[in-house]
Amino acid sequence: MSKPGESFEGQIALILHSAGFVIKEQPHNVMYQGKMMGDLDVLAQDPASDTLIGVSCKDWHGQTPGSEQFSHLVEMLEFENLKHGIFASSGSIADTLPSRAEHVREKKGLNIILLDYDEIEKLKNLAYSQKNWEIEDYFKSRLGLTASKRPTIGDNIKAQKSVGIGKTVECDKMIPVNYHNESPEYIVNRDILGTTHHAELKLGPYLVINYNLHISVSHPGTGETLDDITDNGIVVVDAQHGKVVAENDPICRHIEKYYTNAEIHYSIQEKGFTIKKFEPGINERGIVQHLQDQIAARNEIRASYTTAKNERKQIIKRPRPDDVRILGKHLIYVPTWDVTFRVGEKSYRRVYFGYDGSSLYDEMIKCSLCKNHTIALCSECHATCCDKHSRACKTCEKILCEKSAKICIDCMTSFCSEHEPKTNCGICRAMLCGNCSTVSCKGCQTVVCSSHRQKCIECNSYVCTAHIVSKKYALVSKNFCSQSCLNNFDENYKSSGMFGKFKKIIKK
Ligand SMILES: [Zn+2]
Ligand SMILES: [Zn+2]
Ligand SMILES: [Zn+2]
Ligand SMILES: [Zn+2]
Ligand SMILES: [Zn+2]
Ligand SMILES: [Zn+2]
Ligand SMILES: [Zn+2]
Repeated sequence: MSKPGESFEGQIALILHSAGFVIKEQPHNVMYQGKMMGDLDVLAQDPASDTLIGVSCKDWHGQTPGSEQFSHLVEMLEFENLKHGIFASSGSIADTLPSRAEHVREKKGLNIILLDYDEIEKLKNLAYSQKNWEIEDYFKSRLGLTASKRPTIGDNIKAQKSVGIGKTVECDKMIPVNYHNESPEYIVNRDILGTTHHAELKLGPYLVINYNLHISVSHPGTGETLDDITDNGIVVVDAQHGKVVAENDPICRHIEKYYTNAEIHYSIQEKGFTIKKFEPGINERGIVQHLQDQIAARNEIRASYTTAKNERKQIIKRPRPDDVRILGKHLIYVPTWDVTFRVGEKSYRRVYFGYDGSSLYDEMIKCSLCKNHTIALCSECHATCCDKHSRACKTCEKILCEKSAKICIDCMTSFCSEHEPKTNCGICRAMLCGNCSTVSCKGCQTVVCSSHRQKCIECNSYVCTAHIVSKKYALVSKNFCSQSCLNNFDENYKSSGMFGKFKKIIKK
């Protein structure tokens, strides 16, 4: 697609675009049975009804397009089975054409609008004064398309579902979009987020005013400078609401940093997201005057000096609003994303600048279990998790939050629910991985974790806490796997001398 203003076709496309039509192709080749029959200079579409409109543009400088060219358009429309067309000339149009247009409307049901220089100028003026609604009505009523209806929620849902290409939006000056509606870079497994459930690119107008004030007070007698003040910088005004944006507002800081990167005639097309452009609604002159008044008022100088008669006097100098020089004034659009991801049961909203991706609001930034920075999303419950609260399945390496991970009670190895080992401690039911589920109770053969077993002091085999047999020897409790092991120990103990008894007590 050529740039607006570059060609006559481009101008017509731009007018149609202002009317809310989507420019599908420019030009569009008309093929019939594999052969190229000709072309339409622009192929536009009415998004409300999906109606296609074929456009023929004649930029003939002095010559007047007539019947032959009109017939060619009719032919092209018929090949493509289109019922709506526009025949535009940068100059005049042959007198015979209005009746021909009437004729094809009656005989063939073709709606063709004729646009000559005067009509195009009229439409261009409407476009310049941003009367897009009127341009839309102009075309829709003449083409016999249903007057544009207000979008319904159903339309929005349809637009969000289709990852198709939507309307193109242009801004005279706009900070460019470097970051799109992608999943955030700080999430290592961001692919599980998929595409945004809802994504809107907001283009907000801001007026950036560059000012400079310098005043000085000099001694009335000697003319020497007593004091001077310089106040310069930029003021950012929300051009939609007419409010000065506070200096510590992230929007103000962002604009201050990047407004010089704004690009002229920036255009961006909807692709799987919607664009919402807000129009400025302020009185620029009034705003500037108000700022000059304010800046002048806050820069009063009070200086004292000594007269020739050795008297102390004070001078108060108040700058005039006109002393505040306006060095530049730019209406700039700032792109901000408002996106929502939906993954499983969870929904996350993020609002961030299109230029540097820095966020204004982010529901993903903090770990769901603490206040640390998120590094990943749990692949099972989709909660955000930080470095400390994220784990990986030993088998498949999927990332899991600490809540979703199945953790071996003895060695702390993690598993996902698919690869969770099926062995549990017979006493506490905690999961034990393959490496840690090798010990079972001699008495009941049940696998037990390290907290729920003891070693028999007599035979060295393990016993679960349910089958343990204990006896105290000189206040020290001894554990046995069975009564028979206890009896063996007991007999040996009793028959030992003092030193042998002591050895048995300290035995582990
Ligand atoms: Zn955490
Ligand atoms: Zn796994
Ligand atoms: Zn989880
Ligand atoms: Zn283990
Ligand atoms: Zn246990
Ligand atoms: Zn047991
Ligand atoms: Zn034993």
